[in-house]
Amino acid sequence: MVAAAAAERVVAELREQCATPAARLDGVAAAMEEEMRAGLEHEGGSKIKMIISYVDNLPNGSEEGLFYALDLGGTNFRVLRVQLGGKDIKPESREVSIPPHLMSGNAAELFGFIASALAKFVADEGRSNGVLNGRQRELGFTFSFPVRQSSITSGTLIKWTKAFSIDDAVGEDVVAELQTAMEKQGVDMRVSALINDTVGTLAAGSYYDEDVVIGVILGTGSNAAYVEKANAIPKLEGELPKSGNMVINTEWGNFSSSCLPITEYDQALDEESLNPREQIFEKLISGMYLGDIVRRVLLKIASQSSIFGDINRTKLKTHFILRTPDISAMHHDETPDLRVVAEKLEENLKITGTSLETRKVVVEICDIVTSRSARLAAAGIVGIIRKIGRGTAGNKEKTVIAIDGGLFKHYGKFRQSLESALVELLGEEASKSVGIKLANDGSGLGAALIAAAHSQYIN
Ligand code: ADP
Ligand code: MG
Repeated sequence: MVAAAAAERVVAELREQCATPAARLDGVAAAMEEEMRAGLEHEGGSKIKMIISYVDNLPNGSEEGLFYALDLGGTNFRVLRVQLGGKDIKPESREVSIPPHLMSGNAAELFGFIASALAKFVADEGRSNGVLNGRQRELGFTFSFPVRQSSITSGTLIKWTKAFSIDDAVGEDVVAELQTAMEKQGVDMRVSALINDTVGTLAAGSYYDEDVVIGVILGTGSNAAYVEKANAIPKLEGELPKSGNMVINTEWGNFSSSCLPITEYDQALDEESLNPREQIFEKLISGMYLGDIVRRVLLKIASQSSIFGDINRTKLKTHFILRTPDISAMHHDETPDLRVVAEKLEENLKITGTSLETRKVVVEICDIVTSRSARLAAAGIVGIIRKIGRGTAGNKEKTVIAIDGGLFKHYGKFRQSLESALVELLGEEASKSVGIKLANDGSGLGAALIAAAHSQYIN
């Protein structure tokens, strides 16, 4: 009984510290909006970089031809080929997981690995796979890390995030590195667009639905892009784009604010991470981290109570051993005796013979951590909606947010929680003008669409 009481104390404290009542979320949305403005003002104006994407027009359906895309995310990369023309487009793609040692090696090795996968993909293409008509192959490159773009086809890496840390790539032009690696592999292909995954998601979303003006990634990491009025971007130099618009990659992952509910577990996770004091918002909400936050809470419980029995804590002390798909599986466990929870605890942490009560505690921890994450993501989205003057009760325009990423795609309770927080924040009436859409693999498809819009064969 004493043991259970100690565990309950840890959970009660967690519940309180992670609480995200509407008032707090409103504060987060307001702080996000303020940081967005500051970041648009001038370079370095905010922790969130508000990067100019050089995408000033979203796809409109007139894009034609055969295009490739390469989508480098946080855990995998995808190569994709798509014949554009007509609404019913069917991309072919292949997913390759990135060997962990390449995430911290050197740039030439990483880009070499990517280019060789691309070379294989190209070599395997049959005659039926679209028509090049003697043209050079063109590629849209989705690179999901902060890049300072200098044009639609060039940009230097500002820093790595997520599990990547390759020092010699920082400050280098990622397109030039890819182009060099492709040449070494004998792949004759031109990079026609360099984009962020959020921009790709936004582009793919708006291809199918013109009301899509925001693209969000909730996968290994988290970020958002949106369509801004060019004249609302003081730091935009030179002539304003004809469209009057510019897509901004917010890099909201680096947002932080005193409004955020931060616990001792988040602080420890941050300090022990590859990028301490950076990407604070991302560390609270994205798939790379949720499992590890839960693990840290379980470790604290194991040290203060005996609800897990007499266990060896070696596994429980191992960083990232509990992954977000595991906590998703436990959270969705509908068996009467929480069998899935028991299996996951045993499989990942070598915790056996748990009681039903203990399993329920674990589910509650998953629920607390995930709903905080989903609700904070919703607050970020509301910050953007408010920045562009949408989502109010009198608003006639529809505002649709395209979302891609494994966390959103596969974690049902996360998705529900995000959706209900949006309604809570915007109000029933206003939320009717706001919609959310899954943009499945939009980040890759969007790159192909933007590459088509910037094809060398368009005059
Ligand atoms: P990337 O960020 O590499 O582009 P994805 O968008 O495919 O990759 O997202 C992968 C991330 O999604 C994983 O790191 C994981 O955190 C999360 N994820 C994958 N499957 C699930 C799942 N079943 N439940 C919850 N989260 C998941
Ligand atoms: Mg991705």
